[in-house]
Amino acid sequence: MHKINRVVSVLLLAIVITNLGEFLYAQEAPKYCIVIHGGAGASYSTMPDSLQGAYHNDLQAALTIGNNTLKSGGTSVDAVEQVIRFLEDSPLFNAGKGSVLNINGIAEMDASIMNGKDLSCGAVAAVHTVKNPVSLARNVMEKTKHVLLVGYGADAFAREIGAEEKDSAYFIDPERYRGWLKIKSQKGTVGAVALDVHGNLAAATSTGGMAGKMAGRAGDSPIINCGTYANNSTCAVSCTGWGEQFIKNTVAFRVSALMEYKNLSLKDAVDTVLYKILQKNDGGVIAVDKDGNYCMEFNTSGMFRAAANSKGVFETYP
Ligand code: ASP
Repeated sequence: MHKINRVVSVLLLAIVITNLGEFLYAQEAPKYCIVIHGGAGASYSTMPDSLQGAYHNDLQAALTIGNNTLKSGGTSVDAVEQVIRFLEDSPLFNAGKGSVLNINGIAEMDASIMNGKDLSCGAVAAVHTVKNPVSLARNVMEKTKHVLLVGYGADAFAREIGAEEKDSAYFIDPERYRGWLKIKSQKGTVGAVALDVHGNLAAATSTGGMAGKMAGRAGDSPIINCGTYANNSTCAVSCTGWGEQFIKNTVAFRVSALMEYKNLSLKDAVDTVLYKILQKNDGGVIAVDKDGNYCMEFNTSGMFRAAANSKGVFETYP
């Protein structure tokens, strides 16, 4: 009898310890986190199932790339760049291959990247030939003393550093483009934000911009503080939507400023900007803060999005 009591006590103790462990783990902040968007304005109802499935697959693949990089101790800058490169290579999104065309029928692409550790950042706008604009933006960040290179000067920089280039036909995917036109006001800019195990935040955004835009038009995506921002003391943000609105309202930095100066939580800061400052249908925002809290909010009919973290979250919409 005495022995049975001892066994029961040990079992009870083990249960208490296990539950306590699980409780403490649940309270613990995630060690890393990656959040991705594939553009706001998606109207799933008008999209055939097969296309929805294709988007889902590519988002999952991109998320896996980012998740694996962070899980193995890689940096947030590497994670966001790799994720965006994959999405730029997919013809489904409005970035790199598959970019929408400007008024002259040419793909003019914009991209930016920012490292929250030291606020270093780089961007390119209206580039025509570089296969992966996000990597060119990273080279601007790391190899020049500038933040933003545009147009043919940026194309020349790509050539100078030996970045992979493609002719203009590569960026236009005729089949996808026809499908794209059928889906009214569909936008598919891509963005990623990440927190790595070293506590560093990063953000990156890449786009072909708005279909039919004037030649030379740049939106918010290559403008640090508007379409992209990262600061280790607050959060990392990537935006999608009507670029001019995001520029006027300094959206990405404003989320960070609301946290820093008004002490708002990440969610309250994002909600304030999206639902009180921007107008309905302007777009969406993804963000992660220094504690691994994350948001994927939009005031449009939809936004392709996905998130994963060290606590086992792995979610993709649609
Ligand atoms: N913000 C991008 C731009 O205005 C477009 C988008 O996100 O879909 O260029």
